[in-house]
Amino acid sequence: MIKENDQKIAERIKDSNSILIISHVRPDADAAGSVLGLGLALENAGKKVQMVLEDGAEKFIYLPGSERITQKPAGEVDMIIVVDCSDPDRVGGALAEYGGPSLVVDHHKTNLNFGEYNVVESDQVATAAILFDHMPTWGLSFDADVASCLLSGIVGDTIGFRTPNVNSDVMRKAGALMDLGADLAHIYREELVMKSFKAIRYWGAGLNRMEHDDGLVWTSLRLADRKEIGYPGNDDADLVNVLSSVKEAKIALIFVEQPHNMVKVSWRTRPGMDVSGIAFEFGGGGHAAAAGADIEGTLEDVMEDVIIETRKLLDKIRK
Ligand code: AMP
Ligand code: MN
Ligand code: MN
Repeated sequence: MIKENDQKIAERIKDSNSILIISHVRPDADAAGSVLGLGLALENAGKKVQMVLEDGAEKFIYLPGSERITQKPAGEVDMIIVVDCSDPDRVGGALAEYGGPSLVVDHHKTNLNFGEYNVVESDQVATAAILFDHMPTWGLSFDADVASCLLSGIVGDTIGFRTPNVNSDVMRKAGALMDLGADLAHIYREELVMKSFKAIRYWGAGLNRMEHDDGLVWTSLRLADRKEIGYPGNDDADLVNVLSSVKEAKIALIFVEQPHNMVKVSWRTRPGMDVSGIAFEFGGGGHAAAAGADIEGTLEDVMEDVIIETRKLLDKIRK
């Protein structure tokens, strides 16, 4: 039976001609895969669709339709959908001129439910997995391209089915998406295995500065590293996954210096611990095992504050 909320969303979609879909800055595979998967399906249903990621989709050229992604919305729209984003600020500046979203689809525990309609399921591994469940109830269907984008979101957020929230239901969804034509080996390789030469050199800069103190492992990536190496973008090139594979780390932390006196912090922890609260206190959000925040201040100051607070959290958990 289709739930009332889904029925209303289906009607809202049916009544809209021009739809804007947007996700978070520094997009990951779930952000890009969810924007594209939903966007391509809406186009197949005859809608005019804008798919927007403020930082672009350069990293996702292997995804069908990625060339359609723009960095800014344009013109009039009659429905805004925000995916994989727990608060309105994280989409960047785009929504300021456009008002609040009609629909929010997300799996972050810290979601503020800022849509007219909200489909927020924090037990799901990825926003793409939520879309897989709900899209048919919204009158949308899957083809091979849509399936590839959604599988990419699931592979990304589970780091290749490695996170503890992966269960047989997730594997069945992945199987269904493969049956629809998604190429798992290709997605896995493009998303998780292959890295550019510059990305690995950038890792080197971070790994050289890696520190360990009684269950905490951390490092920083600096603007000067990116300049020297020529690494494009302001992200961590997924170095955080390497840090969290350090056996001694109960909590891994990475600090990525940003322009304009900002620092992007990522926390990763082990099953049974929760870092979403500390990220939220620093103005960010996320999940129990993986969370992040954008914090104002110099790299040195932010590192000091965050390490002190994270140390306290770890000591509290151990008591
Ligand atoms: P990251 O550390 O950027 O890989 O993100 C880990 C998780 O925390 C992801 O689910 C992000 O969506 C979320 N997250 C990261 N940064 C922020 C932020 N500034 N505000 C809210 N959520 C965030
Ligand atoms: Mn995301
Ligand atoms: Mn996600």
